[in-house]
Amino acid sequence: MESPKYKRVLIKVSGEALAGEKKFGLNFDVIGPVCDVIKRCNEIGTQIGIVVGGGNFWRGVKDGGGKMERSRADHMGMLATAINALALCDALEQRGVDVRVQTAIEMNKVAEPYIRARAIRHLEKGRVVIFGCGTGNPYFSTDTAAVLRAAEINADVILLAKNIDGVYDSDPAVNPGAKKYERLSYMDVLNQGLGVMDTTATSLSMDNHIPIQVFALEDPENIYRVVTGEKIGTIVQEEN
Ligand code: UDP
Repeated sequence: MESPKYKRVLIKVSGEALAGEKKFGLNFDVIGPVCDVIKRCNEIGTQIGIVVGGGNFWRGVKDGGGKMERSRADHMGMLATAINALALCDALEQRGVDVRVQTAIEMNKVAEPYIRARAIRHLEKGRVVIFGCGTGNPYFSTDTAAVLRAAEINADVILLAKNIDGVYDSDPAVNPGAKKYERLSYMDVLNQGLGVMDTTATSLSMDNHIPIQVFALEDPENIYRVVTGEKIGTIVQEEN
């Protein structure tokens, strides 16, 4: 059995990634293979926390902007992440993985409230913990929630599973000559305005020295590759 490079990881899965090609709702043909790989990572002893996005159902600014009060639109986005958290939980459970969902907005009929010490206890017992409802506050993103939870649970790294296989100097869909970076500093990302995470999330990870590994979720096996130390995608971390 391979041994993991990281003892504890925080995987950020965007809502869009769970929707597949339709970009809306849940696609179990996509969720299934992702959960198969998460199960294998769990089996080799990596402790796994997951923050899910909600963009496959609702994004506060994009879908509610100008039509709704911002905070309320963001509340709807956070509820969307709870739907995704339950879907992921179910798919993992179907595969025999021990899972708990904790939400930043209390909904105790459907999930545990987020309690840091309890989350850590679950991780130590080998349970996967899925964090729903982002940070629990409007005006934030689930990327920021991912960094916040990673800091709170002392994760070694954030696995940022995207629909692109790394960070480029320009959009490879537009510019075929776009160059992929192997490594970047947080400052590079901030100064060059690279589309890794929003600036709040990037600066929070910089302040707390949490490396971010960016890779494509299109091949879910990439999660296992990163966890076992294979160099893929782009790593954002402190300058050496
Ligand atoms: N959201 C929020 N606070 C948070 C996290 C998320 O208000 O801490 C809301 C916000 O409206 C956001 C939506 O939830 O647009 C869905 O999250 P996000 O856009 O980060 O999801 P993703 O793009 O990763 O699917």
